[in-house]
Amino acid sequence: MKVLIADDSIVSRHMLEATVKKWGYEPVVACDGQEAWDILQKESAPQLAILDWVMPQLTGPEVCRLTRQQHKDKYTYMLLLTSKNQREDLIEGMDAGADDYVTKPFNHHELQVRLRAGRRIVDLQSELLVTQSALRQQATHDALTKVYNRHSIFEVLDREIGRAERENLPVGVALLDIDFFKSVNDTHGHIAGDAVLCEAARRIKASIRSYDSLGRYGGEEFLIILPGCDEACTKSQSERIRRNLASEPMPIHEDAHSDISLALTASFGSTTALPGHPVSAETLLRIADESLYEAKRAGRNRVVFRSILGEDRSLSAAV
Ligand code: GH3
Ligand code: MG
Ligand code: MG
Repeated sequence: MKVLIADDSIVSRHMLEATVKKWGYEPVVACDGQEAWDILQKESAPQLAILDWVMPQLTGPEVCRLTRQQHKDKYTYMLLLTSKNQREDLIEGMDAGADDYVTKPFNHHELQVRLRAGRRIVDLQSELLVTQSALRQQATHDALTKVYNRHSIFEVLDREIGRAERENLPVGVALLDIDFFKSVNDTHGHIAGDAVLCEAARRIKASIRSYDSLGRYGGEEFLIILPGCDEACTKSQSERIRRNLASEPMPIHEDAHSDISLALTASFGSTTALPGHPVSAETLLRIADESLYEAKRAGRNRVVFRSILGEDRSLSAAV
C-alpha cells in the first residue's frame, strides 16, 4: 500500500521514507504542502498520508481540509506528524480533517501501529466500495443478461427524452421480442432458453453504439434507446440489429454431450421522439409496443416503424 510522506525537511523525509519502506509500504514523497495536495488529487493517489504540519505553500492541516472537501470515492487516511504538541494543536489538526496525530520526536513502534490502524480503515472502506458497486449493479441490471433491467431502462429513456428536448434532438426507440421463444424452452429446456437470451443480448450490445442503451423489458423483450437517431436512423438501426440477431444460428450448449445451434429471429417495433414534438416515455413505448404487435401479426422477423407524427389527438394536444 502506498503512503504519502509530506515533509519539507529532507532529513525527516528520508528517514520516514526508509522507515515505511521497511514496514512494507510504498512511499510517495512530497517536499511541501502543494506537492502533497497535487499528489492526493490524482486518481492513483495514496490512501494513507503522513503530513508534517509546517510546510511551505500549504500546511498539513490545509492539505487535510482540501482533501476532505474534494469529492472522491476513495477515503484518504491522514496522519499529522508534528512537533506541535499542545492539546489545542491536536484539536485544530483533527478538526481540519486529520484522522490521527503523532508528535515529534515520534516512537517508531507507535507510528507503525497507528499506520496499521489507518490501513485497516482504508481496507474496510475499499471493501465497502466494492460491495456498494456490486449492489448498484444488482439493482440496475438484469441478473441473467447483464443489460439494464426494466426499471433502469425506463429511467434512461426518461433521461434521454429530457436531454433530447433540451438539445433539440431526436431519440429513437426500438422494442424487440424474440420470435417463437417459448418453443426454445419447450423443446430444449429453460437453460437453453436462458442461453439464447444471453446471446441475443450480446448480439444486440455488439450492434449498438456506445451511447445507445439496452435493457431487458420483459421475458424475451428488449428495449433499445438510440439518442440522436432521427426516423430514418431508427429504422435503419433497428433493421441492422434485426439482421445481426438473425444472421447466424445461436450456439447452445444443450448437455454434456451435445451442442446445438438454433436459428432465431426477432420482431421489432420502432418509433422516434422528434424535436418540437414533446412526447412522454409512456407514449413512445405504447407506439413501439403497437408496432411490435403489428410486426408479429405481419409474419415476424421484421421491423415495423411508426412515426409519432400523425398519432392521435393526445399527442398533437401536447405539442
Ligand atoms: P412470439 O413469437 O409471439 O413472441 O412467441 P413467443 O413464444 O416468443 O412468446 P410467448 O410470450 O408465448 O413466450 C415467451 C416465453 O418466454 C414464455 C416464458 O416462459 C419465457 N421466458 C420468459 N422469461 C424467461 C427467462 O428468463 N428464461 C427463459 N428460459 N424463458 C423465459
Ligand atoms: Mg416472443
Ligand atoms: Mg414476449
